[in-house]
Amino acid sequence: MDSNLTKNLVCPVCKGSLSWGAEASELLCPSCGLAFSVTKGIPDMIVHDARKMTEEELESLRLKQKAAESSAARG
Ligand SMILES: [Zn+2]
Repeated sequence: MDSNLTKNLVCPVCKGSLSWGAEASELLCPSCGLAFSVTKGIPDMIVHDARKMTEEELESLRLKQKAAESSAARG
């Protein structure tokens, strides 16, 4: 369900694509550094409810995205 979720949803702030954070069941926006919680498969896309990601989380998310992009370009 995770890949479908991120495909259909964009960040309500920047309209950028979101990443799935499996550890905490969150949708993550690397541009805004916001994490939107997902409860029972239903994402809470209210900006006011979103959690601010830490610098560490952001860094690893950006690295993950970069890796995914380069592998997609190759394949
Ligand atoms: Zn955003």
